[in-house]
Amino acid sequence: MGRLAGKNAVITGAAGGIGLETSILFAKEGANVLMTDISQEALDRALAKVKQLVPGAGKVETKLCDVSKEPDVSAAVTHLDAWGGLDVIFNNAGIMHARDDDALNTPEAIWDLTHNINVKGVWFGCKHAVLALRRHNKTKGSIINTASVVALVGSATPQLAYTASKGAVLALTRELAIVHAREGFRFNSLCPAPLNTPLLQDWLGDDVAKRQRREVHFPTGRFGEAVEQAQAVVFLASDESSFVNGTDFVVDGGMSKAYVTPE
Ligand code: NAD
Repeated sequence: MGRLAGKNAVITGAAGGIGLETSILFAKEGANVLMTDISQEALDRALAKVKQLVPGAGKVETKLCDVSKEPDVSAAVTHLDAWGGLDVIFNNAGIMHARDDDALNTPEAIWDLTHNINVKGVWFGCKHAVLALRRHNKTKGSIINTASVVALVGSATPQLAYTASKGAVLALTRELAIVHAREGFRFNSLCPAPLNTPLLQDWLGDDVAKRQRREVHFPTGRFGEAVEQAQAVVFLASDESSFVNGTDFVVDGGMSKAYVTPE
């Protein structure tokens, strides 16, 4: 029996990075998984990887879903009605735009785009998860929302729209955790540190100085790996975390607790 046996899960932003690693681990742990993202081609590649790595997986399907569009999110969650209803949603999709900057230089359109995906997308995921859990008379459910360590510590290399959006994710998750606690629906935020995923690595590119500017702040001396986030998500999704609610679940190798790091 897997740690997620019998659970039906939606994962947003599942075609790459943390979302794909989580899809793989969820499938390994016995969950039925609906992988959602904005590119069907990317989803097809991701699905092939899951099937290759987890040959005995239960239901693993894909569906296009732009999280900033409520009908897309609603349709993804409703897709699981035929499976017995949603038990887990990992609201993970998010962007960090190259033109995101400080208070003076962030274009308003980039602010709005970032908030539409990173904040409104998470809200829609939470809303439709609650509706589905109630529709199926579930007495427990786990909602995991991806925030970031920049919701907890300020960064001198600013991406103001991104930082503000992740702060909003922490705040809304905490409140929903309290509002729905008596229904058995748990809400937790995942706070990853910078990782080896396309989101950050494409942005850093070959710029060694830009990379070192960040790496020096890690006590471990390295960026995290997406699978290290996925391991935490499995715990938060499973009944092992039944008394974990409203947390800012930090997976950062100690980065946000460090002053001077080891040489
Ligand atoms: P990634 O770019 O590898 O994956 C993000 C996925 O989200 C992509 O597959 C992308 O297609 C999808 N996506 C983008 N816009 C979407 C939309 N409107 N609707 C649905 N899907 C959309 O990045 P990742 O590192 O795996 O990021 C996952 C989450 O982790 C994000 O919320 C990100 O902000 C957060 N995070 C990442 C890091 C990091 O260093 N990579 C650090 C902290 C937090």
